[in-house]
Amino acid sequence: MSKNILIVDDSSMMRLALQSSLVETGYTVIEAVDGLDALEKLKSGVKISLIVCDVNMPNMDGLTFVKTYKTMPEYQYIPVLMLTTEGSSDKKEEGKAAGVRAWMVKPFNKEMLMNAIGKLINM
Ligand SMILES: [Mg+2]
Repeated sequence: MSKNILIVDDSSMMRLALQSSLVETGYTVIEAVDGLDALEKLKSGVKISLIVCDVNMPNMDGLTFVKTYKTMPEYQYIPVLMLTTEGSSDKKEEGKAAGVRAWMVKPFNKEMLMNAIGKLINM
């Protein structure tokens, strides 16, 4: 059965690019436009195998979202990969401390991203 990946990004262009790459690879995609929306999608009851998350977003940013869901027992073990223009080591350290498993800087290389996703999903 196809695994569900939640993509969280405020850019519709980015969501579209990610969605097409992921669907082509055989995953099912659920989209969220910011951290608050992502929390709602998690609670919708669909089993999520991985989250691909932007950092800079309105309403709730990616790191706040990660810190929030990592405190929720039902969802805390879902792995998360950050995909962002943010490359500062401070942010990366903050992410790592919050439980982020991988960090990639945009624009993404499709092959590298699919590779990283495949590894995280099969752990
Ligand atoms: Mg953004």
